[in-house]
Order: sequence, then structure tokens, then C-alpha cells
Amino acid sequence: MPTLLDRFLAYVRIDTQADEHSTTSPSSAKQLDLCRLLAAECRSLGLADVDLSPHGVVTATVPATVAHAAPTIAWVAHVDTSPETSGTGVAPIVHRDYRGGDIVLPGAPDRVIRVADNPELAGLVGATIITSDGTTLLGADDKAGVAVIMAAAERLVNRREVAHGPIRLVFTCDEEIGRGTEHLDVARIGAVCGYTLDGSGRGTIDAETFSADLAVVTVTGVNIHPSIGKGRLVNAMKILGEFLAALPTDRLSPETTAGRDGFVHPYEIGGGVASAEARLILRDFDTDGLAAHARLLESIAADLRRRHPRATITIAVSPQYRNMREGLEREPRAVALAVAATRAAGMEPTVDVIRGGTDGSLLTALGLPTPNLSTGEHNPHSPLEWTSLEEMESAVEVLVRLAEAWGRERATA
Ligand SMILES: [Zn+2]
Repeated sequence: MPTLLDRFLAYVRIDTQADEHSTTSPSSAKQLDLCRLLAAECRSLGLADVDLSPHGVVTATVPATVAHAAPTIAWVAHVDTSPETSGTGVAPIVHRDYRGGDIVLPGAPDRVIRVADNPELAGLVGATIITSDGTTLLGADDKAGVAVIMAAAERLVNRREVAHGPIRLVFTCDEEIGRGTEHLDVARIGAVCGYTLDGSGRGTIDAETFSADLAVVTVTGVNIHPSIGKGRLVNAMKILGEFLAALPTDRLSPETTAGRDGFVHPYEIGGGVASAEARLILRDFDTDGLAAHARLLESIAADLRRRHPRATITIAVSPQYRNMREGLEREPRAVALAVAATRAAGMEPTVDVIRGGTDGSLLTALGLPTPNLSTGEHNPHSPLEWTSLEEMESAVEVLVRLAEAWGRERATA
């Protein structure tokens, strides 16, 4: 049987970058390469109900070993990687017996994973650190989660060391572009709660997420030849530039906020003289805060419309996901048993808020309470991404203890 490290290295070498501008599902066909491999691995482990949907969702069941009717739970991870950094030709580097100190990535020596920016590294001297070569992301987000789930399932099936109820494995596509649950049938998963394995470090349980909206700002100008532009040409790019310059910089931005403070974050611009567009994410822990961020964008646009009456400025806001807090209250065991399992695995758990969202936010909204568990991710979406084998091993241990804890529960009819 492959080790946890073997699995992780095999999965990150498969390019599964999501494509935000695609309308197909999955957004990139290459994600199916990993989905097909996972379905085959689930079959060879002897799991039940193995299924690969046309949209790339892989589901399988680790059958119960307890005699009583224990509740079904689900373990969820996403196969896709972020569109922000290339995932083509990932060449993972295994730094065994990490000596401490900054890690220079050999494929791009100006890219350095600095201890100053990654204080967790100080506690991992002697550990096995895994990075990319610096030219791509690593893809630990979320192939660490995929590998951890597969390794935990293998342990339950082959070593039969704990008594447990039914466990559904769920591998999704396109989480990074907010479409991870688009083709997921929560009723078919049939679980009382789920756990995404898509978190940083070790021993943390994320039980709250941002609420999130997407805003697309479109400026339409007037493009004619610059030689006759006087009094006629309206440059959409310049007006969009003013819009971006009007956004707050000392607050309400990811660069200047932490903890429970939300933000407005432009992350992509495009266009020309005739028309220009910026895409922004709006984030807050409560929905009122989100609405206030949208009003701020509208007030900036209103001011620009007064100053540039011949331009058209529109803002389209659409919901992405919502804070999972309320949904989790419907199944209090979801977090309580994760806390117990983390302690049983030898760690003191931290119940945290996550400044982002996960498939768990969407699943919780769809009626499957789904907190997020640590799986050793660091610097996601970046060429400086890294993980450690020991953190992934801790996550496997948490899953095994979680299976055991849920195996002691009774399913309600
Ligand atoms: Zn992720």
C-alpha cells in the first residue's frame, strides 16, 4: 500500500487547476485525471458505493464495523487547485529532517520561504517539509486533504483498529472558484454531518467562516481614434483606475485587517478604453457587514458617475457563500466530537474562525453541517506553499479518532 507521502506526491503531480472563466463542469477537464485515479483507488481499497459523477464528484463509503446503527459522517476534500498560481508540472521537493532556517526554492531562487513569515516552521525542526520547486504552487490545498482522507480510509479498512460507523468519502472539483458543491447531492451523501479536510497547520477546527459576495464593476466608456478624441473619448480604464484608487487602503482591505474584520478586495482587472472591468471579493463575518461593503462600492460609483456623466458604471453583486456558524448549531456533535477526536489524537484543539470559506460553508448552507479540519496547509495559492508530513499524519490520526467517536453514537431513526 502507498504511504501517506507517496499518495500526496502522486496527487500534487497531477495538474488540476480550476478555470474561473470556464462554464463547463468541472471547469477544467484535467481535474478528472485525479478524480479517476481516486475512484480507482477507492475500488482497490474495497470501499462500497464507489461513484465518479460526470461532473467529477467522487463518492465512496467505508462500511461500518459496529453492529449498531451509528450515524453516517462524511469526509470531504477538493481535487482542484487555485487559478492564481500555475499547477502545471508541479515538482514537489521533500526536505527530510528539516534543519530550520529559510528554505530557498531551487527553481526560482528569489522565492524563499522565510521563517520570519512562517513562524510555524520553527516548531518543525527535524520534520519532513514539502514544497514545490518555486515555479508552481504545491497543491497541498487541498491534496493534503485528499491524501489524508485516503490514508485514513485505508487504515480503517486494512488495520480495523477502531470500531466505526459508515463514513462517506467525497472528493469535489472547483472549490477554488466557488463551485465545489454545484453538482453535489447532499441527500445522496446521506450523512448527519461532514468534515472538510482543508485547513492550515494542525489541531485546528474551523467552525466559522466569512460570508462572501463577488462584485463585478464594469465601466463603459467611449472609444474613438485619439486623433479626434477631444471632448469625445471617454477612457473606461482611467475611470476604473479612479474607482480602485478610491477604495480604502488603511482599513477594509486584506493587507490591513485580521481577526473578525471584513474587507473589500479587488483581485482582477481587465479591459481597454471602451470597457474595463474589475472583480472584487467582499468578505465579512456577518451579512449586514457584507451589505455595508456593497454600499461603499455603490457610493464610490455614484461619485464617479457625477464626475464622468458620459461613462456608464455598473456594479453586479452576487452571493458566494455564508458563514457556517448557524448551520453548525443544528448538529452540535459536529464540532464537539472533532474537539474530542483532536484530544484523543494527542493535541489540544483550537476552535477557530477562518478568514475564507470552504466547501463546508456551502455544504452547511445546503443542510450538511460541515466544519473544517487542519490538514497541514501553509501559504495556499502561492509558489511559497508548503506542508509537513507530520502535520498530515496528525490529521489522519484525528480522522481515525473521529471515526471512533462517531462509532459510539446512535443514529436516530
Ligand atoms: Zn482548499
